[in-house]
Amino acid sequence: MLDHLKAKNRAWAARKVAADAGFFKRLEGQQAPEYLWIGCSDSRVPANEIVDLDPGELFVHRNVANLAPPQDANYLSVLQFAVDVIKVKHIIVVGHYGCGGIAAAVDGRRRGLVDHWLHPIREVFSTNRDELEKIGNQRARLDRLCELNVMRQVENVSSDVFVQDAWARGQDLSVHGWVYSLGSGLVTDLNVTITAAVK
Ligand code: ZN
Repeated sequence: MLDHLKAKNRAWAARKVAADAGFFKRLEGQQAPEYLWIGCSDSRVPANEIVDLDPGELFVHRNVANLAPPQDANYLSVLQFAVDVIKVKHIIVVGHYGCGGIAAAVDGRRRGLVDHWLHPIREVFSTNRDELEKIGNQRARLDRLCELNVMRQVENVSSDVFVQDAWARGQDLSVHGWVYSLGSGLVTDLNVTITAAVK
């Protein structure tokens, strides 16, 4: 079953080895990526591919609508491992315009469990209601909500005790917020980078 995927895997591995005979042997020894990517599960936002990085170069956590909820054990486990063990230098929260999770959070329809998962986005909407309701175009309003959500998740990551403790130790670590455009393939830096603990 899924023979086409297995064939593609064999061809991919062969291409890697043809270009660099020691590629997989080196990666087997250790992983030392400099970046943690926190992005959306959307199939159109493949982390490594967007920034053209090889296996071993990007530590990745993805979930619906790129959230960093302070009570989510999955995200927190990834964050702690990335910060304390791998010692990544950059954490990048990456949202994307046209995010179905963002739209679903605020369209008023009921879907089940995911409505609870998306609750933090409704909080971001409430906090920024005045600004968002001034935007007449629905798509532009949701795009702005994507950006505001990324900014909020950057705050979550930056205020986390693992990150705060790393900064207290003098560890070199920055937290960034980006938004990716499905239409152009380009990322925009929201310029909300935090590089040290706020006193
Ligand atoms: Zn999405």
